[in-house]
Amino acid sequence: SAAGGRLCACRFYSDEDRLRLAEEKELENRMRVALDAGEFVIYLQPKLELRTNAVVGAEALVRWADPVRGLVPPNDFIPLFERNGFVVDLDLNVFEQVCALLRAWADAGLQPVPLSVNLSRAHLADPSFVERYEEIRRRYEVPAPLIEIELTETLVFEDPERLARVIDELHAAGYRCSLDDFGSGYSSLNVLKDIDVDTLKLDGVFFDAPDFSQGRGADIIDIVIELSRRLGMRTVAEGVETEEQAAFLKRAGCDMIQGYLFSRPIPPAAFERLVFGQGRQGGDGRATGFGER
Ligand code: C2E
Ligand code: MG
Ligand code: MG
Ligand code: MG
Repeated sequence: SAAGGRLCACRFYSDEDRLRLAEEKELENRMRVALDAGEFVIYLQPKLELRTNAVVGAEALVRWADPVRGLVPPNDFIPLFERNGFVVDLDLNVFEQVCALLRAWADAGLQPVPLSVNLSRAHLADPSFVERYEEIRRRYEVPAPLIEIELTETLVFEDPERLARVIDELHAAGYRCSLDDFGSGYSSLNVLKDIDVDTLKLDGVFFDAPDFSQGRGADIIDIVIELSRRLGMRTVAEGVETEEQAAFLKRAGCDMIQGYLFSRPIPPAAFERLVFGQGRQGGDGRATGFGER
């Protein structure tokens, strides 16, 4: 019966569930105001080229600089914002911050460093999403090749055809594209046939075991890097924490590393000091005071 159906659809909430739901409700009540107040800030994590030891780019990673809770990491709010759709506005805001930074560097006469942004799956449902990004980029007059869009591996098996079309559209507008978290999920090597990205970001799972540099695991890293090269893609190893990992990846022909070994994600002012020396004029060059956990 209808009543029975309603009963079955009911679920029982534990105290923990109730607390989590209350917290989420609270975040949802505040997210819009927080966005308008500029509380979502970007940190930049450098990408180091192994051949030259030069910083050749950075990934923009969002944090919620909450006046009460301090600096909140994205894993604490992105999953909720993916469910309620707010991640679309957040990603656009992050993208705008990246465009503003690239514009500021160009205006200061500095050699711009390419920056990457993460793209949530929620955008793929919107057929005009590339145009929304383009409107922002044009407003800041930033060349598209300076921006890389990171698409996460999980999108591959959700809707590979839509993903392939989105990559074509992004390429047509001049953006570079990378496949993020490669190796962390269940996608097969065969997906690379249709997913035509410029860069493959190797997930830390490939080399976080203590014996990563031996046996079958080592062969797999070697082969994946060789495969990327054959397919014309550059490789970035994510989550590199030790000299041993960096040395192994360099021998295997990996192009870039990104991880705590070289640098944690840092505020833009600290990134500017790292890459441009004294930083650009106008900025006081000091870190914002929020520490990375
Ligand atoms: P991701 O895109 O794979 O970003 C890399 C994550 O690994 C970052 O975590 C970074 O701080 C962390 N990481 C970097 N090096 C190391 C290392 O050596 N060791 C370890 N253990 N971790 C390392 P973060 O900043 O907490 O971001 C987590 C995830 O949140 C990101 O994973 C991305 O999926 C998502 N995210 C971050 N910013 C945005 C955004 O603006 N939009 C969207 N849609 N997602 C975002
Ligand atoms: Mg990423
Ligand atoms: Mg990643
Ligand atoms: Mg990752």
